[in-house]
Amino acid sequence: MKLLVLNEARHAIDDSFVEQRCAVTPATVMRFTRMGFTVMLEQDAGALSGYPDAAYTEQGATIVKATADVLGDADIVLYVNRPLSSQLAQLKADALVIGHIDPFFQQELVESMAGKGLSTLSVEMIPRSSRAQKMDALSSQASLAGYVMMMQAANALPSILPMMMTPSGTIKPAKVFIIGAGVAGLQAIATAKRLGANVLAYDTRPVVAEQVESLGGKFLKIDIGETGQTKDGYAKELTDEQKAKQQEAQRDAIADSDIVITTAQLFGRKPPVLISKQTLALMKPGSVVVDMAALSGGNVEGSVPGETAVVEGVTVIGDGNWSQRVARDATDMYANNLINLIDEFFDKESKQFTLDLEDEILASSVITHAGEITNDMLKNAYKGG
Ligand code: NAD
Repeated sequence: MKLLVLNEARHAIDDSFVEQRCAVTPATVMRFTRMGFTVMLEQDAGALSGYPDAAYTEQGATIVKATADVLGDADIVLYVNRPLSSQLAQLKADALVIGHIDPFFQQELVESMAGKGLSTLSVEMIPRSSRAQKMDALSSQASLAGYVMMMQAANALPSILPMMMTPSGTIKPAKVFIIGAGVAGLQAIATAKRLGANVLAYDTRPVVAEQVESLGGKFLKIDIGETGQTKDGYAKELTDEQKAKQQEAQRDAIADSDIVITTAQLFGRKPPVLISKQTLALMKPGSVVVDMAALSGGNVEGSVPGETAVVEGVTVIGDGNWSQRVARDATDMYANNLINLIDEFFDKESKQFTLDLEDEILASSVITHAGEITNDMLKNAYKGG
């Protein structure tokens, strides 16, 4: 089977950023070639994550100058992001495309991919199960995002994070408040603790309180009534009354914090707004807020997608694409997720990837196949359900 990896820095899905990551590392190319794949990489595909072309050719990959010549040959195309609509026409009709497709917000692209007959595997739709953990790209990238957001906040704060006692005076530890204690939030908490800050956290899923405390953080208890989570572990959307209660109860904690990091997401929906401009105005000037969701709608009123802005005297970081700041680790982890995924469904006898749609991992993550959109959750979302 022929496997193709593009240089996504050259094929930007929008103008706001240059992709730094790559879908394979030399180590995963070695595994793919041992499995019997022919691996083709577009020139400089790994350059921005620290892997020159030579590191890939040493492991058996072929470097291609332009993808236009080879897109039509590939049986599997591995993306970090998603294909450009202009690339679809060149792909083989029954090719398998794997990447962060962002399917809830890319209806037109997904419909075109189905129409073309492509099989599309969206890594965001891989179930959050123990068996799928090694393939879970949302988690691998969110873990790094948690670290990166905390480091960016620490750099932007005009104070240090740990307590410091010196003859020139005593500095109190910084106060950090993390809203949303999922994969990214928990890494942000762990990083803030390592830097010596006092950490408080809140999440609508009370089950995470124990995890926050095991990392040395305190959990803010807010009584907003029944919240719960979906069968896949995702937070449910709050009612308007619950949202108002949460904002009210968080206000003092936010006003008292030097750094606030918001990581609240709702799977397949726009993220909730958690911090108003009025609340930002209560923070000390120079305090820092990181809005993890800035690119997809924002948890913080006034955050600017892709930028750092000063809102009500507070530095609000909305850069997004967090894991790219540590592109080598992000590439290593994502490439491992993909090789683990392909290896799981690889038939050693026939040396083929088997698209077993009865398997629970593929049933949920393969979103187009044989001319159809195959995922019910997506079909409902597209109908406005
Ligand atoms: P996510 O990115 O969807 O959301 C981040 C966090 O924001 C979540 O903890 C969510 O509860 C929280 N949130 C949503 N609305 C909020 C609000 N209004 N206020 C405060 N917090 C709010 O979450 P995620 O990190 O992708 O994790 C999703 C689920 O998947 C979790 O249950 C997690 O434990 C689970 N998970 C399981 C595995 C596994 O078993 N293999 C791996 C990773 C994640």
